Amino acid sequence: MAIRGVLFDVDGTLFDYAASEEAGLLAHLAAEPLDGFRSPADALARWREVTAEEYGRFLAGELSFHEQQQVRVRRFLGRPGLSGRDALAWYGRYAMRRDLLGVAFDDAAPVLRRLAPHYRLGVVSNAGAEAQRHKLSCVGLLSYLGGAFVCCDVHGAAKPAASIFHAGCAELDVPPHQVAYVGDDYAVDALGARDAGLRAYWVRRDPGAPDSPPADGIRVLRTLHDLPAALRT
Ligand SMILES: [Mg+2]
Repeated sequence: MAIRGVLFDVDGTLFDYAASEEAGLLAHLAAEPLDGFRSPADALARWREVTAEEYGRFLAGELSFHEQQQVRVRRFLGRPGLSGRDALAWYGRYAMRRDLLGVAFDDAAPVLRRLAPHYRLGVVSNAGAEAQRHKLSCVGLLSYLGGAFVCCDVHGAAKPAASIFHAGCAELDVPPHQVAYVGDDYAVDALGARDAGLRAYWVRRDPGAPDSPPADGIRVLRTLHDLPAALRT
């Protein structure tokens, strides 16, 4: 059965989150310096460590979206008593710099432009809907992705839950077996989409990653440029 719809993960797939996070945090610390870190690299490593832990608690349903932002800031600054309002304000100033300095991967816009006339396109993401719309709008990709926009904060469950993939298919108005999902996280995106009945494409951009064969039903993309031809096979 031919593929008629394509859903995308955002961070690490279309949007270069790692580069944007690094540029944004370093710009934020240049504007609002902190004591206590040996180097900018040390600060970035600490930010990523608390982000991984607290965002994981959000995805597990232990913290709300705004709570995880507050807790990350309190831990990073070493100020457990910081008010929620002040923590969110600090986060907002950081996020503004991160989004201003945000970049899409070079292959994202040309491939979305090629696919748009032939497929219904959309997003299924484990981040906040407002943040993802803003981010994709800043890098000029949002207009291609109007077919579906499903994020875990609004949907109420996160990938790899089948329900969030099915919600994306429903918004596209295409049944799951005629929808491809494209994402960079093997367990969450590739296995999650496959198990929900979609055609799963795993994006592996790291040129140093070994060519280990993935599990049954998972197709590997080294670049999004290979996606248009892959969808036709
Ligand atoms: Mg991702």
